[in-house]
Amino acid sequence: MTQVLYRKYRPKFFGEIIGQEHITKTLESQISTGKQVHSYLFTGGRGIGKTTIARLLAKALNCTERKEKQSEPCGKCVNCLALQAGNSLSIVEIDAASHTGVQDVRDKIIENVRFTPVGAKYKIFIIDEAHMLSGAAFNALLKTLEEPPEYIIFVLATTEIHKIPATILSRCQRFDFKKPTIKDIVKKLELISKEEKVKIDKSILERIGYLSMGGMRDAESLLGQILSLGIKDIKNEDANLILPQGDFSAALDLFEYLVNKDGRNAIISLISLGEDGINFKYFFDNVIEIARKALFYSITNRDDEFLPVDINKKISVLADFAGRVNLLKILDTLLARRSEINNLDIPSLPLEMAVAEICGEDKKESYDEQNNQNIENDNFEKKLPAIKKDKIEAPGDLLEIQSKWQDVLNKIKDHNHSLPFVLNTATPLDFDGKTLVLGLKFKLHKEKLEDIKNREILTNVLKSVYNKDILIAVKLDETIGEISSEVQNEDDEVDVESEFKI
Ligand SMILES: [Zn+2]
Repeated sequence: MTQVLYRKYRPKFFGEIIGQEHITKTLESQISTGKQVHSYLFTGGRGIGKTTIARLLAKALNCTERKEKQSEPCGKCVNCLALQAGNSLSIVEIDAASHTGVQDVRDKIIENVRFTPVGAKYKIFIIDEAHMLSGAAFNALLKTLEEPPEYIIFVLATTEIHKIPATILSRCQRFDFKKPTIKDIVKKLELISKEEKVKIDKSILERIGYLSMGGMRDAESLLGQILSLGIKDIKNEDANLILPQGDFSAALDLFEYLVNKDGRNAIISLISLGEDGINFKYFFDNVIEIARKALFYSITNRDDEFLPVDINKKISVLADFAGRVNLLKILDTLLARRSEINNLDIPSLPLEMAVAEICGEDKKESYDEQNNQNIENDNFEKKLPAIKKDKIEAPGDLLEIQSKWQDVLNKIKDHNHSLPFVLNTATPLDFDGKTLVLGLKFKLHKEKLEDIKNREILTNVLKSVYNKDILIAVKLDETIGEISSEVQNEDDEVDVESEFKI
């Protein structure tokens, strides 16, 4: 089933290629104008379509029915059919991984180059894993690459471009294949599921995309295994039978505890993971990877296109909540502790110590007590409050926020004289009942709101105005209109920079 699925849906036309459009566009333009070159070098990860596109190039060039100025093969002529069936004589595929020597190059390539193709215009040599060729083999190939007969086209495919000699590189036109994004992979898997008349949750397809680490072939193979269950309406429980569970979501949970400085739940989850027998080295690396992605988000404000939507959303909220300084501290501590893992008999210990370090000293009072204290009191705890999700009430909406936003602005003045200024420039963009997304036009303002102390003040004021715990996420949004506020007008003459020193 696995193999069948991969072969069955191998693209037969350039238009069916997903995720490598930057390459097919150039190749198609060369084909339609007859300006193809004699040596191509395709580089990129495994299973992302290098051989498929090389074959399509061969197919289009040798198609006898291809119209002038067109690039797509007809798919019906003798040459197209032979190539689709895998018995075309005009295409020579060599796996350099098992034919590395100079004699292989002489026998398989140099000797063969002399014979003109039969019934076709071109003879195409596809050398897969080309970096495996020996130095002598490359040298033997070089001369043919320099002066190839008119009817010869070489496509060298490699996953390790740095191992290809410069002399070869300089004689090839190079195409860099991109790792397909989750979106690309989901698109392809949706096409296949539809053709197979199987209903499958998009979240499962996204998970497959993530697990296959950008390898389209691996993604198709995983989908094939799920389809082989023979279920027509595939749910998460079904997919779980096939897909590796991975500890990624557990790592994401742990990261959330770290951001919330919730040491208790962090340690409890580590104990439970230990009982499940997870590999702590691998798990530790996942936590570091998530912290890294959160840091990236806090700098770029862009989602990671290799992560599923829901994971991206969670990481972005946590990144905004933590703020860049905090994220750096978390990452610093994790990295320092990670290096100790090899010297210890207790593999979970470095992570446990990192948790203790990041979550800081014991809380002197519980979260509830902390929130019941007089809101007018400026003496907030230094730590971020751990938000208890089960305490959050039914979802509200943005209107609810907007209706009392002026109250927030008024109240905040009691705490700090410049925070209202910053907040006045903020636009409530989204509220899902838990997280309020504030849009800010300027980076300086965004950073101000990311400051732990300011965030605490705002969290407490929000609680007092809306009577619920509200998480704050801050987004840079340059499209927000001109700033206008009475606070700003009053301070028009004040140096803006100095105004921010709280
Ligand atoms: Zn054809």
